[in-house]
Order: sequence, then structure tokens, then C-alpha cells
Amino acid sequence: MSGGRRLIVTERASRRRFLTGLAGTVGLASLGCRPVPRRSVSAREVVRVVTAEPRRDGAGVSLRRSVGGAALAMLDPFLLLDELHSDRQEDFIAGFPNHPHRGFETVSYLIAGSFAHADSVGNHGRIGPGDAQWMTAGRGIVHSEMPEQEPGRELWGLQLWVNLPAARKMMRPRYQELGASAIPALDVADARVRLVAGTVGAKRGPIDGIAGAPTMLDATLPPGGRFHHELPGGHAAFVYLLAGSAQLGPQRTPLSVGQLAVLGAGREVSVKSDGGARLLLLAAAPIGEPVARRGPFVMNSEAELDQAVADYRSGRLTDG
Ligand code: FE
Repeated sequence: MSGGRRLIVTERASRRRFLTGLAGTVGLASLGCRPVPRRSVSAREVVRVVTAEPRRDGAGVSLRRSVGGAALAMLDPFLLLDELHSDRQEDFIAGFPNHPHRGFETVSYLIAGSFAHADSVGNHGRIGPGDAQWMTAGRGIVHSEMPEQEPGRELWGLQLWVNLPAARKMMRPRYQELGASAIPALDVADARVRLVAGTVGAKRGPIDGIAGAPTMLDATLPPGGRFHHELPGGHAAFVYLLAGSAQLGPQRTPLSVGQLAVLGAGREVSVKSDGGARLLLLAAAPIGEPVARRGPFVMNSEAELDQAVADYRSGRLTDG
């Protein structure tokens, strides 16, 4: 289904809800017996649960892949989600030496340990605990991402790939670097939420100017805690469980560590956790264009992929 059609369906549904709500309010008001009821929000149900698959990538890094694995090739516009979580140096220390990207965005989010990064145009730095980096590769970047952690201590990080629409695939690369203190922490129902992108009430996350108007929340629920969040209608959305266990949506679908729940149409996502949980909530507008992918290149056609490979081999990937 195209993104446009999804939006139209959602718009019709919300108009219907508005009219229904209005009729109900008028009726109650004319009876003079009750205050205006809270607007009901359509619940997003879990339509699919995917368990992350063990993979090796880079120069020999052990990770768990949910989006981009065999069970869920993509969830437009999300192309990949990898979780790296280990206290064994041999699982991560080889890292991701110099490699290219073109045509999409990579989002790195660290919980423990750090990554040193350096690219072909002179950008370099370190992403530490609680930090996020939203890198729009655009027409091309060649970079290295090398994990750093003391022996015996855990490294815990995530990388998300988000597609770019055709009109932005060849844009100039852009970095949005967020230190931990730049990410607002908010209380939402019982949850402590770090707001990387999107909005919670009047608060807006620091990531801006991204095509699909993404939402990215890191929510921690205490035992017995509840969390709910209203997402834009028509956005593709999923929850990935980082720790603990949780029940999602009106069906109370159970989710355990390393599992991803794809959310269906609607607006409100609801989570309950008996024993406590930590999760990522991601959402963004689907792009609805053809996707051609080959390793670190994601374009619209095979011809564009061939061009990306040729540009990389001739050292012109990052020219522009
Ligand atoms: Fe990379």
C-alpha cells in the first residue's frame, strides 16, 4: 500500500471519529448531564511480532538484527535495526572499519560503552552512553565506526537505518549529533521517556528536518508501569524491547527482549509491564517508492546501485 493511500484512509477515519465525537458531545450537552467526554483515540494493535536474528557484520561484530533480517526485510521507511549488546570484547572489538553509505540515514544510539567514528570528509568524534547520532548519508559518506569499552564491561548500542525519498537520496551529507544531555527526559504516565525525535505533548525532540517526521522514544517502565503515546496517523510504527518484558496494545500482546512488534493502523500505542521494561518506539511516514538495496547502498533502481558502486570504486562517492 502506498503512503498516500494510507494517509487518505487515516484522514477519513479521523474525520469520522470527529463527527461521531461531535454528535456525542452535542447530545450529552443538550441533556446537561455530563462534561464533554475525552476524545477517544484509535488504538494501534500489534499486527506482527518478529524475533531479532543473530548476525555477524562489519569486521566480525556479533549483533541481533530485527528490521532487515529474513523475517522482516523492511518496514518502509525503516530498512534495518541492529542491536549490539555484549560484555565480551571478541563480540564487538573488530568494529566497522571504513565503509560507504549512499541513499539513506544511519541512526546510532548508545546505552553503554562508546563508538569512535571518523569519516572521509574530516568529521570525527565519539558517541557515548545516552548519546545519539543521526547521520544523513545522502549522496555519500565513507566512515568507520569502532566500538570502545573496558574489558569485561558491556557495550550496548543500536543502529537504525532510515530510507530517504528519491528527491533527497543525493543530498549533501548531514550530521545531527546529540550528547546525552541534549535529549529531553520526560515522565509519560508511569514511564521515563527520552525523546530523541517527534513530539510528546508540547515537547519536541531535538532531531529536525528529517523527511518522514520520525518519532524515536526510549521508554523505561517500572514494575507494574504503563505507558501510552499518540502517534501520527498513517506512520509506520514499531516497538523493540531492550530489557524486561511488556504487553502491548489492546490485545496485550506479550513481548520479550530482542522482539519487535509491528503496530497496525491507528494512533495510540499502549504498553503495560508487570516486571519493568525498556523499549524503543519508532515511527515515521512511509515513502512508498521502489527500494533497491545492495549492502551499504539503498537507491530506487538497480542502475542507481550500479552507479553507486562505480562511484565508490573510482573514489567519487562523496563528490558533490
Ligand atoms: Fe556505517
